Amino acid sequence: LKENGRNGCLLYDPAFEHTAINKLTLQHELMEAMSRRQFLLYYQPQYDLRSGRLVGFEALIRWRHPERGMVPPSHFIPAAEESGLIMTLGDWVLFEACRQNRAWQRAGLPSYPISVNLSIRQFAQPNLVGRIAEILDETGLAAPYLKLEITESIAMDVERATAILESLSDLGVGISVDDFGTGYSSFSYLKRLPIDCLKIDRSFVRDIHQDPNDRAIVAAIIAMAHNLQIGVIAEGVETEEQVRFLQQHACDEMQGYYGSPPLPAEEAGTMLGRDHGL
Ligand code: C2E
Ligand code: CA
Ligand code: CA
Ligand code: CA
Repeated sequence: LKENGRNGCLLYDPAFEHTAINKLTLQHELMEAMSRRQFLLYYQPQYDLRSGRLVGFEALIRWRHPERGMVPPSHFIPAAEESGLIMTLGDWVLFEACRQNRAWQRAGLPSYPISVNLSIRQFAQPNLVGRIAEILDETGLAAPYLKLEITESIAMDVERATAILESLSDLGVGISVDDFGTGYSSFSYLKRLPIDCLKIDRSFVRDIHQDPNDRAIVAAIIAMAHNLQIGVIAEGVETEEQVRFLQQHACDEMQGYYGSPPLPAEEAGTMLGRDHGL
């Protein structure tokens, strides 16, 4: 086992993905992991780029495997999506993120929105909006303290997405487009859907210091978002140079190792207590 401290993950042999354990075994293991409560959420801080202040967290799922250590989502989310287990898992993630955020509020800590990733399968479930309303009600979290991260592929299906996103927006829940720029080339959905925020994909941020094309793309995304009255957050920000570039181009927020890696709930709570900044 190899420690990957930054991501809070213990990585096991990557061959695992391709060989020994087949899909069905993994799917069976995931169901067991659910009933054994082996999933947990890490929380990665997000910062305002003007003030440097903490403005929120993204909830990121982990699987604490008894032998393999902390398993990152890339190793099991695809299997969960294929098997449909993502419905149960995604429902748990939504509930747990809202419960935790409300618990921090109840403890008197400063409160910020929590962002939750929504898979396309979850988005297609018939009563998503009702279920989210129910989760907010059960946990006592006010809707503006929940943000949903959808992918461009969800947003691109405008006909289907409109009614659902409008209802979520009416509820008061925030909507962000995740991994922006990696999906499709049409931006028409941006003016038709109630989108609050674009998350610039890490692949554009990574080489900002050396690739003029990436600089042009990032600057253009920020300008476009702002002209559409949509907020922008850059993901995967690791260096001060990247921060400076993003500040110069008036990007609103950032998330990445430069600020903080994803943290276990307890550490995220401690950070809230200190009202931590960049
Ligand atoms: P994502 O939504 O794009 O999440 C950001 C990923 O980038 C996270 O990986 C995070 O740990 C990582 N990251 C954050 N800052 C940095 C940085 O500065 N540099 C680099 N290189 N990486 C950084 P993670 O936690 O392994 O999650 C991977 C993906 O798994 C997520 O990508 C998301 O698509 C999916 N995922 C995670 N949690 C959930 C969940 O609860 N539900 C669903 N449906 N998908 C999830
Ligand atoms: Ca995300
Ligand atoms: Ca992302
Ligand atoms: Ca990404």
